[in-house]
Amino acid sequence: MTVKTVTEHLITLKGVNKSYQQPNGQQIVILDNINLELHPGEIIALLGPSGSGKSTLMRMIAGLIPPTKGEVLYHNRPLVGLNPGVAIVFQSFALYPWLTVLENVELGLKAKGEAPDSRRQKALRMIDVIGLDGFENAYPKELSGGMRQRVGFARALAVEPELLCMDEPFSALDVLTAENLRFELLDLWMDRRIPTKAILIVTHGIEEAVILADRIIVLGRNPGRIRADLPVTLPHYRDRKHPSFQALVDQVYKIITNPELDTTEPTETVSLQTSKPEPKHQSLPAVRIGSIAGLLELLEDRQEKDLYRLAQELQLEVDEILPIVDAANLMNFVELSEGDINLTSVGQEFINGSIDERKQIVRSQLLTHIRLVQQIFRLLEAKRNQRIPEELVLDILENHFSPEEAQRQLNTAIEWGRYAEIYGYDEPSGQIFLEQTASVEPVAVS
Ligand code: ADP
Ligand code: MG
Repeated sequence: MTVKTVTEHLITLKGVNKSYQQPNGQQIVILDNINLELHPGEIIALLGPSGSGKSTLMRMIAGLIPPTKGEVLYHNRPLVGLNPGVAIVFQSFALYPWLTVLENVELGLKAKGEAPDSRRQKALRMIDVIGLDGFENAYPKELSGGMRQRVGFARALAVEPELLCMDEPFSALDVLTAENLRFELLDLWMDRRIPTKAILIVTHGIEEAVILADRIIVLGRNPGRIRADLPVTLPHYRDRKHPSFQALVDQVYKIITNPELDTTEPTETVSLQTSKPEPKHQSLPAVRIGSIAGLLELLEDRQEKDLYRLAQELQLEVDEILPIVDAANLMNFVELSEGDINLTSVGQEFINGSIDERKQIVRSQLLTHIRLVQQIFRLLEAKRNQRIPEELVLDILENHFSPEEAQRQLNTAIEWGRYAEIYGYDEPSGQIFLEQTASVEPVAVS
């Protein structure tokens, strides 16, 4: 006998795209073709590197911003304006310093039009539930970070949201406080002490996602899209040291560190359907050549080739090591496959090289692999005085990047090009100029 149950969709995203218009009229696509359903009973982690559009996606679900294309549905109906079923906890706590704890917690209820008496009661109850007893009349500045975030939780939960959205809620807290609060939240959820039907947590921490979530959605960049949608079936409370826990962390790590791996179908184990979406524009991670050199040297010194375990050994977060790995990969100093990182022959030559040889090698790699550096180099060559204003490059970059990101891209290209003595940068005039030493043809590296 089969009983057909209609799954209730708390939130549905259909072909959602978010783009922003640049000052020069160009559109940049932040998120593209997002299809997603959130169901009651789930804790969903939205995981991805910074800039992948996690906050943007969450804000669309909350109705704070509309999608450019596609639809956000709430209980199968198109969402118009603010989502009445959502409350948000922010990383920055977002408390009003001139209001007491109680008044801060009451804010959401007040906005919902609750009468003063009932909102006071509900706020006091939530203050009790969340462990803020005795702090009702304190001001935020009198509280520790952990206590402030409790106020953030109490304020969001007091309105009894169907969907609790949290944007990196633990990342401003110290490790211990964060871990305590995570488990306290989990207690509230598991014991059904809060009527919340689902929780969406935005995070860049893989372990945080695996500790909390029943489902992990991995976002990729350029533009943001869903790269994997993984159910987590391990029972709560999870032990970080358990082999199944570690295996799942490894799997997610592999997806994140391997941009060519796409797993968009929910499956028990990660299936390796590979497709190769070419990034539309090369995006330079903002790292120094010195960091790349450091990574390459480490790789030579260590046996460990598994990127995740390497990061653990070095006590680095994904967000800290990934940009460096990404840069080394762009310059073809390393090869990545399934979460393993290996030096290429060019990478090996770099390590063995003297300072001058290293510069030569980086120059050659930049001029063959890094489009922005190539572009700047060609523009410089084309000019009789061999100088260009940085604005020219920024204008080109702003076709694909936000003004802030364009500036960051330019800074990175200048830093890399300067190291390799391809071009220089004249601070007061904001001009980039060709170095005398740069030759027209890239130096060949065997
Ligand atoms: P995440 O939360 O994953 O770090 P965000 O959603 O905050 O990423 O941002 C994704 C991208 O969208 C970033 O490159 C950011 O610069 C860009 N972005 C966000 N909001 C705006 C905006 N209002 N105008 C232009 N670009 C924006
Ligand atoms: Mg964010």
